[in-house]
Amino acid sequence: MTTLRWGSATDVGAVREVNQDSLLVAEPLFAVADGMGGHQGGEVASATALEILQETFDGGASKADLLEAVRRANAKVWDKAQLDENLHGMGTTLTAIAKVKDDETDSDVIAIVNVGDSRTYLVRDDELQQLTLDHSFVEEMVRAGELSAEDAESHPKRNILTRALGVEPTVEADLEVVAPQPGDRLLLCSDGLVRELTDDQVAAVLRRLKDPDEAARELVSQAKAHGGHDNITVVIVDVDGDPNDPVAMKLPVRPAKKAKPQKAHKGPRLQWLTFRVVIFTTAVLVLIVLGCASAVWYARSSYYVGVQGQQLVIYRGRPQPVLWFHATVTERTNVSTSQILPSQLPRVEAGASQSSLAAAQKYVQNLTAEAAAAQLAAQAPTTTSPPTTTHPS
Ligand code: MN
Repeated sequence: MTTLRWGSATDVGAVREVNQDSLLVAEPLFAVADGMGGHQGGEVASATALEILQETFDGGASKADLLEAVRRANAKVWDKAQLDENLHGMGTTLTAIAKVKDDETDSDVIAIVNVGDSRTYLVRDDELQQLTLDHSFVEEMVRAGELSAEDAESHPKRNILTRALGVEPTVEADLEVVAPQPGDRLLLCSDGLVRELTDDQVAAVLRRLKDPDEAARELVSQAKAHGGHDNITVVIVDVDGDPNDPVAMKLPVRPAKKAKPQKAHKGPRLQWLTFRVVIFTTAVLVLIVLGCASAVWYARSSYYVGVQGQQLVIYRGRPQPVLWFHATVTERTNVSTSQILPSQLPRVEAGASQSSLAAAQKYVQNLTAEAAAAQLAAQAPTTTSPPTTTHPS
């Protein structure tokens, strides 16, 4: 939902005796009308236009409803002027905005209608932009390139309108539609404001004062202080919005605005990230532990017979270290290198692997038995029984 806040102010000014401006604040419809015509014609024209506008639009929800309200307002002012001789020739400007449903998307949009030289501005991202085109003699000359904007401000015919409400049986109103963003500020005003203040002066007040009523009163007060040659009327409408509002999110003109809603998801996303990191880290640690365990198992699961000094020793482990696991001495035998055959020595020095401690002990026994048998054979060559020929596996 697009919610609106608003404020308004009007003043007769410092020169005129009568305030012929009228304003309408009837959410979701807001308007400013600047009437013209002597003998009370001006006040009647602007007041009548806004009265009929509100009456007709009441409950309206589309651009078409707003345009129909303008059509009836024009007809009423025209009729009144025809019926009362004192009101002949009266007319009024009209700038009006209404929050309506977009015909296609069904989202909230701001419809803006304009006839004459009152104006509607939009302040978005601190930038003031005029949404309406003046229907005035000098403005049309400026648009045609026949007059500079500077010269138009002081042109003697600047009061002459090329279009007004109620001066003919029918009128053509300009229509514009703006997709609202949270933070948008709409300013509706009569020419009495912009003749006294520059765009920069107006923008400065709109930036400085966040409260719409306060800003409206300040603008009117400054225009009066700067001369107040005409009636001054201001309506300010602020677009408030929940940043998570799906309508507001769907319509931003500048994608930078999307950063806010994303921020809201930062918490859950971070948690999900942490969860994944924990799972991954755990898996890696499990693999490392399994790898180490199998390396330890491999390194420690066998024995070998080696030499330490002059002594045969049974080691647990591998002759070549596995990772950082070195073999450890399990058993020092009483056998010295001189008690085995010299031909067996190189293999033992290199480390003779055995599948178990018992196999290693058996291997050492066989080495000594083999050497003893060879010695016996050498000492008693006549012995008939051959020596036991047990070979190490
Ligand atoms: Mn005026």
